[in-house]
Amino acid sequence: MTATGPALEFSTTLSSSPVTPERRAEILAAPGFGTSFTDHMITAAWTPEAGWHDAGLRPYGPLSLDPATAVLHYAQSVFEGLKAYRHDDGSIWAFRPEANAARFQRSAARMALPELPVEAFVDSIDLLVGTDSEWVPTGGEASLYLRPFMFASEVFLGVRPAKHVTYSLIASPAGAYFASGVKPISIWLSSEYTRAAPGGTGAAKCAGNYAASLIAQQEAIANGCDQVCFLDALERKWVEELGGMNLYFVSADGSITTPQLTGTILEGITRDAILTLAGDLDYKVEERPVSIDEWRDGVASGEITEVFACGTAAVITPLGRLAWTGGELVMGEETGPVTREIRAALLDIQYGRAQDRRGWMHRIV
Ligand SMILES: *Cc1c(COP(=O)(O)O)cnc(C)c1O
Repeated sequence: MTATGPALEFSTTLSSSPVTPERRAEILAAPGFGTSFTDHMITAAWTPEAGWHDAGLRPYGPLSLDPATAVLHYAQSVFEGLKAYRHDDGSIWAFRPEANAARFQRSAARMALPELPVEAFVDSIDLLVGTDSEWVPTGGEASLYLRPFMFASEVFLGVRPAKHVTYSLIASPAGAYFASGVKPISIWLSSEYTRAAPGGTGAAKCAGNYAASLIAQQEAIANGCDQVCFLDALERKWVEELGGMNLYFVSADGSITTPQLTGTILEGITRDAILTLAGDLDYKVEERPVSIDEWRDGVASGEITEVFACGTAAVITPLGRLAWTGGELVMGEETGPVTREIRAALLDIQYGRAQDRRGWMHRIV
């Protein structure tokens, strides 16, 4: 169900104390990830009676929350993640923001939150990034990371969907994920924990999924790995995804496979774009179940030549090692050629160096 209706009007209140150009230049020289924020933010309110209202751009700053605000207790909250890219000519673009808007609606519906119209979602991005355009970094793989989110803001301790909901959008300059070149990461296969069960919230980008994955991520770190990989909850046999990235397997015969969406895997927009791009590059693309035995045996026999993870933040990340209780498998010290080719093809579109044949790029400035 897609919410329609009159366009949401956004008011504008500019900051009277924006970050100085000197300080901003310092931040943009080494932005890191998720620690600095632009001068403004978007907020909008929803109630069953008024629908979406009170939408506006305002100075970035703390939200004041009553201790009984519902989200703090029952985690009725969803979010998105996408980036604004500066092209060589100075223009600024987002990658498939309508796809994020649609997923935001699906996530909201799963968590009994109201759907924000796609147009309002995209308008909020245009307004915030247009206002804070000086914050979009130049060069390399830097970008302005955009974080739309929605939460139950009703002050109420009962258990039911909130009747007051807040939408917000903040923006944070992000440096290249791999500051010193792309390096394969190591993965811990969790046998203790699962991320999502049938009928659960695995396909929704909800805050609680991340809270539930942190202990498994901690286990990965304790075992000398960078990230955790989850298997399905029923059989503990089928490969699902990492904590925040989808997976792809490259075969010696030139085919590329990703676990099919079963309701317990997050529908990544990067994953979806790669399905199309890999097809354009003449790879045979498959979505089907992949078992952990197929992964382990395939790497051992040489049938699987590369494995990579994908998501907005890190784009495409090669996997170099898979470890589990009592064993490990080395996949490669270097980024494989297919991973490199697909990574470059995607980044070339996002940074305007290749033709955007599918209208994926949305111009903001
Ligand atoms: C956001 C997310 C992804 C990646 O999605 P993109 O749209 O490609 O950024 C993958 N898995 C999980 C669990 C996620 O939350």
